[in-house]
Amino acid sequence: MRSIQQAKNQELINALNQDQKRQLQFVPTKYRSLWLRAISGKTSKTQAIKSKCQECCGWEEVIERVRGCSITQCPLWHFRPYQVS
Ligand code: SF4
Repeated sequence: MRSIQQAKNQELINALNQDQKRQLQFVPTKYRSLWLRAISGKTSKTQAIKSKCQECCGWEEVIERVRGCSITQCPLWHFRPYQVS
């Protein structure tokens, strides 16, 4: 039996265009729900930035890589997640 979250994700997947569906293949399961909500405009801008930073880091060692991001010319740099205050 599918969970409510899986059903919601499937609904979002069905509404993706072909380019987005192709991209989805590269999103690891762990990050898929947030990515789906972000790409569908169903999340906050902060969460969308989080998803973009996760993707930018290749979906690996995400917290460390985003926190340590040195690409200060990126417009998202000040808004990236996982920063230590
Ligand atoms: S802030 Fe860093 S990790 Fe986030 S998108 Fe920009 S370059 Fe990538």
